[in-house]
Amino acid sequence: MRLVLVGPPGAGKGTQAQYIASNLSIPKISTGDIFRANVSGGTDLGKLAKTFMDRGDLVPDEVTIAMVRDRLSEDDAQDGFLLDGFPRNVPQAEILKKMLADWGQALDLVLELVVDDDEVVRRLAGRRTCSQCGRIWHVEFDDKQDDRCDACDGALFQRDDDKEETVRHRLEVYGEQTAPLISYYADEGILVGVDATGPVEEVTQRAMEAIRPFMG
Ligand code: ADP
Ligand code: ADP
Repeated sequence: MRLVLVGPPGAGKGTQAQYIASNLSIPKISTGDIFRANVSGGTDLGKLAKTFMDRGDLVPDEVTIAMVRDRLSEDDAQDGFLLDGFPRNVPQAEILKKMLADWGQALDLVLELVVDDDEVVRRLAGRRTCSQCGRIWHVEFDDKQDDRCDACDGALFQRDDDKEETVRHRLEVYGEQTAPLISYYADEGILVGVDATGPVEEVTQRAMEAIRPFMG
């Protein structure tokens, strides 16, 4: 299964990606996570990406695409993958299509996580990430008063780009650059929308039901 998750920042892509990828036994490839790992590791890629991420802008396409090409070339991605956060604009989608075609592959499905703006803002404002295992939590919805991860007891942190001002800009970037992917993939006939409101497990169930007809 070759799957892409799209949706605005805060829609729950990262949260759902961990469950969907594990249900389907495919690797979860989150470009945001790879960039953040490079930023913490102080690599050249991280230094370059950081300036764009801090502003809430997209990292330039050639850098992002080279990184995704490398990751998709790895052994574990040959029989399927779940892309979370890529592609994020039409040029990235076109290059992805060509890259996969060169390898005799194609996307099976693009799942759009549908939530309204108010819910997105509420989700981003309370988002916390585990510094050890990367699990995503929410202060209010998961009742995280202690700032500790329930899974591994790691310390939770708030992402720099989840500050109110940056969030507003990221939502604009989504509307201008990423939202056009919805009609792009609808035209390709591989887009399915999933209601991403309600409890996490219910959203996962809806996503799995949407995926089932596309499984080989
Ligand atoms: P969210 O899940 O909140 O939408 P991500 O973790 O996916 O955010 O991405 C965080 C940041 O990483 C983005 O704001 C952007 O700067 C960078 N980034 C992630 N994926 C891409 C991509 N496909 N193209 C360009 N920049 C990206
Ligand atoms: P994205 O990757 O699309 O930016 P995340 O998966 O990081 O979104 O989720 C954003 C925030 O919303 C996190 O704090 C997460 O715990 C929370 N969240 C995700 N799904 C739900 C849900 N169904 N209900 C309530 N909160 C959720």
